[in-house]
Amino acid sequence: SRKVVLRAYIDRAPREDDMELVDGGDVALRVPEGAGPAVLVKHLYLSCDPYMRGRMRDFHGSYIPPFKPGSAIEGFGLCRVVDSTHPGFSAGDIVSGMTGWEDYSLITKPEQLRKIQQSDIPLSYHLGLLGMPGFTAYVGFYEICLPKKGEFVFVSAASGAVGQIVGQLAKLHGCYVVGSAGTDQKVELLKEKFGFDAAFNYKEEPDLTAALKRYFPDGIDIYFENVGGPMLDAVLLNMRMHGRIAVCGMVSQHGLTAPIGIHNLYCLVSKRIHMKGFIQSDHLHLFLRFVEDITKHYRDGKIVYVEDMTSGLENGPAAFVGLFSGKNVGKQVVCVSQD
Ligand code: NDP
Repeated sequence: SRKVVLRAYIDRAPREDDMELVDGGDVALRVPEGAGPAVLVKHLYLSCDPYMRGRMRDFHGSYIPPFKPGSAIEGFGLCRVVDSTHPGFSAGDIVSGMTGWEDYSLITKPEQLRKIQQSDIPLSYHLGLLGMPGFTAYVGFYEICLPKKGEFVFVSAASGAVGQIVGQLAKLHGCYVVGSAGTDQKVELLKEKFGFDAAFNYKEEPDLTAALKRYFPDGIDIYFENVGGPMLDAVLLNMRMHGRIAVCGMVSQHGLTAPIGIHNLYCLVSKRIHMKGFIQSDHLHLFLRFVEDITKHYRDGKIVYVEDMTSGLENGPAAFVGLFSGKNVGKQVVCVSQD
């Protein structure tokens, strides 16, 4: 079984060679004797998510512990059960949960796995549209943004895993929605595929404040914040009175000890803006409702979904690193095996 390990902790942007594919030796395709109630899974798909970068630092003060250098890095996986000594799982089940970047993982706390019913929905979508990123969009938009019909919504990193769903939920809610993204191809996708009212390439805007003023002459009610830095600063100047900012990400600030490019925080006071950070896992009581709602929207053709599929565990590190330069078009997933 092969695995992708972190070589050593880093305190800069991740590079492909910070990770290494190593041969973990032969795997007996059974849960070992004495392992207790456990599940042996084979990986079909792995999810690349920006928060994983934080786990590459030797920092223990976050909501999730760092990876262990030399061990398989962890992330959300979509797997087939090969063997189980846990009464809740049987060989052949499809499950998703926190697993390792390796061909096979022994899961000793199977309670954290979620069984997936196979259906017309592609299995990998359970790592995005119907998984953690989709859920982030759902709770962030409904629970944190508290949207009202007709409001003006701005989404950054809008073509990514979370952003594409936020924009479509906002449209379904009757809002006016603009997204920003880092290439013209992504901007086209936002307008043509995801139905945003307008979209722009932030890398081609010399003055973000002026750009936002152009798209929102009357101001922004809701900002779904994914990138931080100068974009957040420009948004603050363009917010309306009593606006809401859901702080989901700040991907441009990951790994920095202090945020950069923010000068306009006083707008929070003068415009009575509600700005709130959130972590999707604090809202898991809403997960089943989310799956029902989004599945229905998807089957009704009201929500579409774009994923960026990389083939092969060995190509996982490059796919992950690509998140931080915007290489991914849509949700980044790695296909480890198709059977
Ligand atoms: P995406 O699929 O959107 O991929 C990341 C994208 O971020 C890139 O494609 C790129 O898009 C953009 N980006 C990368 N670096 C920068 C930068 N320096 N400045 C501006 N944009 C950048 O990722 P996700 O949808 O999975 O995640 C989006 C955000 O949501 C992240 O910040 C993530 O950490 C956060 N998140 C938060 C959760 C929570 O519970 N709070 C849960 C899940 C995600 P482009 O080409 O447009 O620049």
